[in-house]
Amino acid sequence: MIDRRKFYIDGAWVDATAGRDHLVIDPSTGEPCAVISLAGRADVDASVAAAKAVFPGWMRTPPAERIACVERFLEVYQARMEDVARAVSLEMGAPITLARNAHAPLGVRHTQNFLRAVRSFDFSRPLGEEWPETRIVHEPIGVCVLITPWNWPLNQISLKVIAALLAGCTMILKPSEESPLSAAVFAECIHAAGMPDGVFNLVNGDGAGTGTMLTAHPDVDMVSFTGSTRAGIAISKSASNTLKRVALELGGKGANIVFADADAAAVERGVRQMMNNTGQSCNAPSRMLVQSSIYAQAVARAVEVAGAVTVGPSGAEGTHIGPVVNGAQWAKIQGLIQTGIDEGARLVAGGLGRPEGFNRGFYVRPTVFADVGNDMTIAREEIFGPVMSMMPFETEDEAIGIANDSVYGLANYVQTQDGERANRVALALRSGMVEINGKPRGPGSPFGGMKQSGNGREGGVWGLQEFMEVKAVGGWTR
Ligand code: NAD
Repeated sequence: MIDRRKFYIDGAWVDATAGRDHLVIDPSTGEPCAVISLAGRADVDASVAAAKAVFPGWMRTPPAERIACVERFLEVYQARMEDVARAVSLEMGAPITLARNAHAPLGVRHTQNFLRAVRSFDFSRPLGEEWPETRIVHEPIGVCVLITPWNWPLNQISLKVIAALLAGCTMILKPSEESPLSAAVFAECIHAAGMPDGVFNLVNGDGAGTGTMLTAHPDVDMVSFTGSTRAGIAISKSASNTLKRVALELGGKGANIVFADADAAAVERGVRQMMNNTGQSCNAPSRMLVQSSIYAQAVARAVEVAGAVTVGPSGAEGTHIGPVVNGAQWAKIQGLIQTGIDEGARLVAGGLGRPEGFNRGFYVRPTVFADVGNDMTIAREEIFGPVMSMMPFETEDEAIGIANDSVYGLANYVQTQDGERANRVALALRSGMVEINGKPRGPGSPFGGMKQSGNGREGGVWGLQEFMEVKAVGGWTR
């Protein structure tokens, strides 16, 4: 069994002083694959003290020096992509092909985008031509706690760590206790890149224990959190006693509006995007809204596509989907599928229980419900598994109304060949992101949501600014 019980504090791998053991479960088998420590008070205090001690020095480093550190990190990370991919695949169940082609490369992509953004970022500039003696200075906010989930681990870790480093912050990363193995490889890359001691620290731990100690810590200036809305609320409360800045990237219930004039591949694209990463994406298009005139054929196509999605273990190469992350998540998904049936939605693909041929591991059948009402539980709650809800609509206004009738507002999707309508609908949707006709958002675009999907923006220049304070100085000598 892999032993990852050490924490990375002040530039060294150290034993836990107040930790307790925790087993990491391989979702493909349900068996333990690694052991970590959950940090206690003394470990948390040591990590925060290390970050606090070096903040004044790191804050004053010229941006070019921080950029050079991150460039070295990128080289090391790229050389270790296979280790990253294997770790992700083992800990959270992504098939190794997906881990290699999608999970691990996200660390490269985000790092490159941040480097591009920071090179042209003005940390200090005049207010404007009329006010040359007023200086606007962007400074790092301070000691940051970065708490990440397990579903796209390298995505969230790199979006937070690299931005915070380049902004001049020091930090404590607490990855999900479900996905600590890839985070450990990431920390090894930071170390090998020669990052100054104490700037980056890593402790493992659970949310309620270690997480709360970190978010409540008086020496922490900011919490950047990605995870469930439930935990986002708990963290906001815990951080409020010390009025820390809290940046939140939370859950979603994306609507994918398919108009009658959508391109021929729109339904297939939507189902595939839903099933990708076994439905464990906050921006998954989990509600497919289809215009009535093509609804029946869209349901038939969705059934075909979902039926062709294969399920398999994480270690096997291929385009199958893996298991979901753990037993609790598996049981929650089963419960929601049952609720969908009980509330009268029409089950047209997949359903309850493991797919045929599996008697262990957290495998879920690729599932599609038709005739879902937007007031049903499966249309309102984030399922975080390979389960899609389809519902008909008549008019553009009705579709926008259904899409916006959600406590979430992360990512929505529009499929139509009428460009003007696509733009109009995109502007009417209450979400931080909209994708039209399967076109991705460009590199360095901000990622984040509205409403109960959170208040943060990660990636590119917006992601850098999240970790900064703005200072205005009058009487500046030119
Ligand atoms: P989770 O909220 O259970 O855990 C996320 C992280 O928060 C873990 O590290 C966990 O240990 C920690 N945590 C939990 N409770 C805490 C507390 N009270 N105090 C401090 N830390 C705490 O979420 P998860 O199951 O790991 O991830 C799935 C969720 O993440 C989904 O809801 C998904 O939509 C969301 N997500 C959002 C985005 C986004 O950018 N908006 C991206 C990916 C995932």
